[in-house]
Amino acid sequence: MRVTVPERSPGEKEFEERLRPLSFDEFIGQDRIKENLRVFVEAAKKRKEPLDHILFFGPPGLGKTTLAYIIAKELGVDIVCVSGPVLEKPRDLAGILTNLKEGDVLFIDEIHRMHRSVEEYLYPAIEEFVIDIVLDSGPHARSIRINLNRFTLIGATTRTGLLTGALRSRFGYIARLEYYPPPDLKRIVMRSSRILGIKIDEKSAEEIARRSRGTPRIANRLLRRIRDYAEVKGKGVIDLEITRYALKMLDVDERGLDLMDRLILKTIIEKFNGGPVGLSTLALAVGEKEETIEEVFEPFLILEGFIQRTPRGRKATELAYQHFGYKKKTLFEI
Ligand code: ADP
Repeated sequence: MRVTVPERSPGEKEFEERLRPLSFDEFIGQDRIKENLRVFVEAAKKRKEPLDHILFFGPPGLGKTTLAYIIAKELGVDIVCVSGPVLEKPRDLAGILTNLKEGDVLFIDEIHRMHRSVEEYLYPAIEEFVIDIVLDSGPHARSIRINLNRFTLIGATTRTGLLTGALRSRFGYIARLEYYPPPDLKRIVMRSSRILGIKIDEKSAEEIARRSRGTPRIANRLLRRIRDYAEVKGKGVIDLEITRYALKMLDVDERGLDLMDRLILKTIIEKFNGGPVGLSTLALAVGEKEETIEEVFEPFLILEGFIQRTPRGRKATELAYQHFGYKKKTLFEI
């Protein structure tokens, strides 16, 4: 399998590559999606046809890229990975498309951030496997239509709502990845420890699982950092004591909230008296981009019951107040 990977910081990328599950059997959790994909892959192989286009959506770090790699591997084809915003002009996409072989997978990460002109250029490619290429320029410009090899597009996005309806409707299967429950994350932590040769006890794996925001990438990152503490401060083995110490040093609290999660909640409570507060105002107050708050932080805070979304904005819940030991102000105290 040939793999073309998009840019990422070398340390993190190398680490993630080592831990990336390479088959459906190794991929933990998301059982229904996995079962569906197994069936689709099997059926496509039997018919000797390319797999239908697939869209994965869900917050970062839940396994969208990993699933795309697994699909390509199980199909026995090559995968080419690109990031949506990197494709600036149709020409950038044309070069990639014409190089795909029959049945290959084209993975476009952050597909919602693709330029409009590139997106429109993609339509005939994924529908009829043809593209128009412009030859010459100026008054002599003409275009020729060329046939592509049939391929499978796998798109990944943090929210389907950000995708145009026209693009969304062109996918044969749309799968929403959910945050992982702690037992699944525990298995992921145990698996990663095995691969990295880290000694860890069950209780510590549970603790990391519980405090990883439901996200495998975060669980793996915490494991890596805690290993550093175990090697420098502890006995080289990850036990509950060193796990708790490291998580404290890493600013991950009891419920797995990190600094930005807490800043968002505290800002809503302290500066906006619990809300409701609009997204743009909140983003300005915490110094973070609106889309990052909406796609990365908020979904987990809503899932865990810390924030409520109302038509007038975001509100901190009773649970958020309790978490910080605040008392909700009554109308008379304001
Ligand atoms: P996304 O594309 O959704 O941002 P990735 O597929 O890059 O997420 O996953 C991030 C990391 O988390 C990967 O390196 C992989 O090792 C790990 N991971 C994700 N999902 C799983 C899973 N279900 N089982 C085991 N590890 C996983």
